[in-house]
Amino acid sequence: MAVNKPYNNGQWTQARFKGFIVSQLRSATTRWGPKQKVIQNARVSRGLYKCEGCGKVGPPTLPPEKGKSRRIKNIVADHKHPIVTSAGFVSYDEWIDRCFVELDGFQALCHKCHTEKSLGENAGRATTKTLKQENEREYNSWKSMRARCTHSHHHAYHRYGGRGIEICPEWEEFSEFLKDMGGRPLLHTLDRVDVNLGYSKGNCRWATHREQANNRSDNTLIEVGGVSKTLSQWSTDLGIPTSTICGRLSRGDSVEKALDKSRARRTKPPTLDYEEIYRGHLSGLSNEVIAANLGCHKDTVRKIIATKRRSKL
Ligand SMILES: [Zn+2]
Repeated sequence: MAVNKPYNNGQWTQARFKGFIVSQLRSATTRWGPKQKVIQNARVSRGLYKCEGCGKVGPPTLPPEKGKSRRIKNIVADHKHPIVTSAGFVSYDEWIDRCFVELDGFQALCHKCHTEKSLGENAGRATTKTLKQENEREYNSWKSMRARCTHSHHHAYHRYGGRGIEICPEWEEFSEFLKDMGGRPLLHTLDRVDVNLGYSKGNCRWATHREQANNRSDNTLIEVGGVSKTLSQWSTDLGIPTSTICGRLSRGDSVEKALDKSRARRTKPPTLDYEEIYRGHLSGLSNEVIAANLGCHKDTVRKIIATKRRSKL
């Protein structure tokens, strides 16, 4: 059976399909010879059956519970070995082997005994539901990963399943995915290291959005001296703002020149102390001398003095 095949025209996941088949098989067991035989063997007299658990004799059905209309089945053909063990679902073959057992694999139990037995078995089993609930963030990642790859109606399907991105067979089970990937750190999402390969233990990691953005399949890579990085990665590594690199490239600079860290930035003019300039002016210093001391132009000094004088009037 193909593992990553989308079922029912892409509307069903494999898990849903699996559940569908298993429930069909389970209802088929009502017509299974040994299962019918064990009930016949439990019959003591007309309308009375003996429970192999408590040894009591009772009718085949009991009156319905309060508020319900269906009578309760009292004598049940029970599997001595549970079909679903604590290890969970293994394979179709094993499931069928466990479900369709011979007469010695069945026992007739009354409703009370059967309920007690089932409750005991279920208590020891970590169900898929609790695993989902306990690892909600990881489960959501797993679920969306499957949706992107297997649901042809998913909005991003063309970038995943649509271009051949597959999920490894082991990760059909959420528990396996969780075991391989571990907990998902805050602000991290599921990321593939090689964007052209599928989802598997070797190709996946939890990554921040920034790490992921650098890894997108539609990113343009800038190559310098044999090293390819995205614009954002070059910017972080060299300490040059992305806007500066973009600006340089759009002005027609070569890639090497655009990523040249040593290129002088436009220096910011020094902040001038207007009060000091004015005091210098009052003490009789010429504009040229003040300008030379402060490292600015004499016209700047002249303008500042003019403004100051106006404000003092
Ligand atoms: Zn009983």
